[in-house]
Amino acid sequence: MRSVTILGATGSVGASTVDLIKREKQRFRVEAVTADSKATELAQVARDVGARLAVVADPAAYTELKNALSGSGIEAAAGADALDEAAARPADWVMAAISGAVGLKPTMAAIERGATVALANKECLVCAGSLFMRRAAATGATVLPVDSEHNAIFQALGAGRREDVRRIILTASGGPFRTWTQAQIRSATIEQALRHPNWSMGPKISIDSATMMNKGLELIEAYHLFALKAGEIDILVHPQSVVHGLVEFRDGSVVAQLGAPDMRIPIAHCLAWPKRIDGPAPRLDLAQIRDLTFEAPDTVRFPALALARRALEAGGAAPTVLNAANEVAVGAFIAGRIGFPSIAALVEATLEAATVRGLLGEPAGIEAALAVDHIARSLARDLLSENAVKAS
Ligand code: NAD
Ligand code: MG
Repeated sequence: MRSVTILGATGSVGASTVDLIKREKQRFRVEAVTADSKATELAQVARDVGARLAVVADPAAYTELKNALSGSGIEAAAGADALDEAAARPADWVMAAISGAVGLKPTMAAIERGATVALANKECLVCAGSLFMRRAAATGATVLPVDSEHNAIFQALGAGRREDVRRIILTASGGPFRTWTQAQIRSATIEQALRHPNWSMGPKISIDSATMMNKGLELIEAYHLFALKAGEIDILVHPQSVVHGLVEFRDGSVVAQLGAPDMRIPIAHCLAWPKRIDGPAPRLDLAQIRDLTFEAPDTVRFPALALARRALEAGGAAPTVLNAANEVAVGAFIAGRIGFPSIAALVEATLEAATVRGLLGEPAGIEAALAVDHIARSLARDLLSENAVKAS
């Protein structure tokens, strides 16, 4: 019996995790589940999996949570500290699936007690990757990659020795605008950007797939997870999303992981690791798919990818600023304040402003990383209100 906690239990990754756990109730006991403010939804999840504790980050949602849990014997709590405490509770395995930089602190709380952390929240590694990996090594915490591409690399790395790896390749679907011209992309709407061809995901990451910033964030994520040099990580566009990641060894062998584009596959891998459990995802039928195609990424139509690589090479807090500016930009795009190409433009302008202000030194700890995140957000908001980036 493995005890588990799910941070971000009401989200897309959280719901897939809950789905797997409900199918294997005899193997898993749920300690805590958390959400932002959707108290009634969270209470239902907590009842479904028999959690001991349910936490909403928003204190205003406490009464609703308490009422929805009445008679269940499940403890209710609210607020940012309660979120960290949920992560610090003794569960063997923690799913870190809160979206955004708010996931840093609770995820670190799980790392600090040496838990096995299934890491979906890529912001932890993008904003403070060196720190997370250093603390994990110090506390004996195990970090298992949930992100499908990184999970694929993790599995493929098992085929050889670390020192024999020549490079890794992360695949990208190319998003909904893969075949669009630059002019078409310029006037892309929110609805069009949200329509991911292969994966069903939360709104933020769906927009990131459309700009390809998601792959940029994943590049930084891979750099930290697998202790690689930036030049050892390549991106390959693969529209079918069947081959998720490849590892090239020095003898020329390339080992890949394949699977249907269903997050329950990498999540199931992390849930059972180092064993395997039966997965409910559709099985791969290559004869039916027939064609797997690949193409080089286009950084002219998708400048976010080049921005992320530059931030990775600059190091220090540049990826932290990149991520913060991107969150503000995606929010502004979803709110209809800026056009699609302004997302990358705002990120670039924020990186420039942060460089001028000397903000790009390596953050010493989580608080320092969050402080940079905070300043970068306000820089991005200032640039937005000054109309420093064009509306379309
Ligand atoms: P989502 O938006 O569907 O869900 C986010 C979860 O976090 C929800 O449970 C929400 O309640 C919680 N949350 C949001 N803001 C919060 C706050 N301020 N305080 C506390 N909790 C908060 O997101 P998702 O698509 O499930 O993605 C989660 C993370 O996993 C992201 O970092 C994303 O990049 C990563 N990821 C997702 C996928 C995917 O297929 N969805 C794939 C790879 C990686
Ligand atoms: Mg991914």
